Amino acid sequence: MNLFKRRVYLDNNATTQVSKAVRKTMNRVLKYQWGNPSAGYQKGKTANGVIKKAREQVANAINGHPHEIYFTSCATEANNMVLKLLSDHFYPTKTKIITSPIEHSSVLKTLEYLKTKGIDVQYCPVDQYGFVLVDELKKQIDDNTFLICCMLANNEIGTIQPIKEIGEIAKENNIYFHTDAVQAIGNIPINLKELNIDLLSLSAHKFHGPKGVGVLYIRKGVKISNMIHGGGQEKNMRAGTENVAGIVGLGKAIELATIDIEKKSKYLITLRERLIKGIMESIPDTILNGDPINRLPGNVNVCFKYIEGESILLMLEIKGICASSGSACTSGSLNPSHVLLAIGLPHEIAHGSLRLTLSEENTQEEIEYVLETLPPIIQNLRNMSPLINKK
Ligand code: PLP
Repeated sequence: MNLFKRRVYLDNNATTQVSKAVRKTMNRVLKYQWGNPSAGYQKGKTANGVIKKAREQVANAINGHPHEIYFTSCATEANNMVLKLLSDHFYPTKTKIITSPIEHSSVLKTLEYLKTKGIDVQYCPVDQYGFVLVDELKKQIDDNTFLICCMLANNEIGTIQPIKEIGEIAKENNIYFHTDAVQAIGNIPINLKELNIDLLSLSAHKFHGPKGVGVLYIRKGVKISNMIHGGGQEKNMRAGTENVAGIVGLGKAIELATIDIEKKSKYLITLRERLIKGIMESIPDTILNGDPINRLPGNVNVCFKYIEGESILLMLEIKGICASSGSACTSGSLNPSHVLLAIGLPHEIAHGSLRLTLSEENTQEEIEYVLETLPPIIQNLRNMSPLINKK
């Protein structure tokens, strides 16, 4: 493999490369369809038309209705908006939100903020694989609860939640259900109607679309106030001239990501299983994080005892491999991942985490290269580790 020219990109849960087809579609918009979608003349109508098509593409991908799709600037915005606006709507009649301790920071930090405004946030515990304990969740529900917020699949350890069951519990109790489906879309099928989902967040850059554009799905009938005040865009819900090229790119990307999902998922699972088996067989004192089966097709997350994840990343980078120790949004901090702590790992083990996340662009050859490269890196770091000497 010619590694001087090529990088092995294994951080697809952080972001994905914009696909060629999406780039082409966006370039066309930037060149020809740049009118203001609110303008009444033809150039505006054309821009409005391409947004309409993108809304249909999103609705088709998740079995929603185009009227239920709202474009945002990212999933962080969508998550913030759901939590803040629903809290505004219900407070002070109802004040309780139930969530999990392994949500993305855009949910957890927003909830921290809402606590200061009088919202009671309950964290439903997860088991050692990261599954929400559904019986505990049921016990936490009371008359004061207005929302359950639980991600569909975890961005660090890949665990896929029993979302249908959680959706049913919410429905039976007359509580809204929001799911952050950022990592799930394009990797596993999502059918909103089957899953009893009321609100859902997505982000284009996680499925080979551009950065700076996301989706908030709001089921018809859910009462929520305007996200951004101003003009009448997004049915008055989110004012501001639309990011037309981004929205069209998202539409194209979601269409491509959700076609033939079974074939893609099968391919990713083959690569993932080879990677997991190869790592577990060649590197002792390694822990696989997340559920071995019910996990995202392209997610590998392991902890190597006695060493630091950050030093593994530096060594991998020298060898041309891009990886992560956890969530990209928090990897600037030296604290161990809140997800790994929540599934019960002690600090010293959680520090040695490595996340390798695949896309359909990865090849078998790249996986073999990682399996050749990683064991000596771990061995070298362990040789220098004061922790292992104390064993
Ligand atoms: N939710 C999850 C599960 C994520 O993994 C991420 C990004 O890493 C986000 C939300 C935030 O997405 P965005 O980058 O669009 O704000």
